[in-house]
Amino acid sequence: MVKKKAIFFDRDGILIKAPVDKDNKPKSIKKVEEIQYVRGIKKIVKKLKKKYLLIMVTNQPDFKRNENTLKNIKQINRKIEKDLVLDDIYVCYCKNDKCKNRKPNPGMIFMAKKKYNLDLNSCYFIGDRWRDLGAAKKSGCKSIFLDYDYNEKVLYKPDFMIKNLVGCLKIINA
Ligand SMILES: [Mg+2]
Repeated sequence: MVKKKAIFFDRDGILIKAPVDKDNKPKSIKKVEEIQYVRGIKKIVKKLKKKYLLIMVTNQPDFKRNENTLKNIKQINRKIEKDLVLDDIYVCYCKNDKCKNRKPNPGMIFMAKKKYNLDLNSCYFIGDRWRDLGAAKKSGCKSIFLDYDYNEKVLYKPDFMIKNLVGCLKIINA
């Protein structure tokens, strides 16, 4: 069976805009009404869909931190999946890095690999935080980093850097 290729997308800051708090750290929106798509994303998914599976891979610890309801989070994710016509979504609700699925751990990517028979070396992970880069590195995907200059250390070196999201189309052979 021929192996498939996928683009993994982080959610906050990549598919949808992520608000930043007063310390310049990104946050997750709380309600579906707050969804604002990142500029260019609809064109990007349309273009990449021809050759790649499109999969969202997101940490959403707000429920376990008592900062949002599971219902709200699921509603947001369902709307994004539908609006952008994604092939699949993987969500980790854990707040503890011991979880093998919580990025930077690669569990969600490995689940997708198994389900879709992916060749991870031909896959890309687009993210805006060090956790995304870690998950890409640990799974063997190529990482594309959109740097918003958040107030946090970037603990892994990305394979590619972009200044705006549409820049990914120059990197990925679509
Ligand atoms: Mg993000």
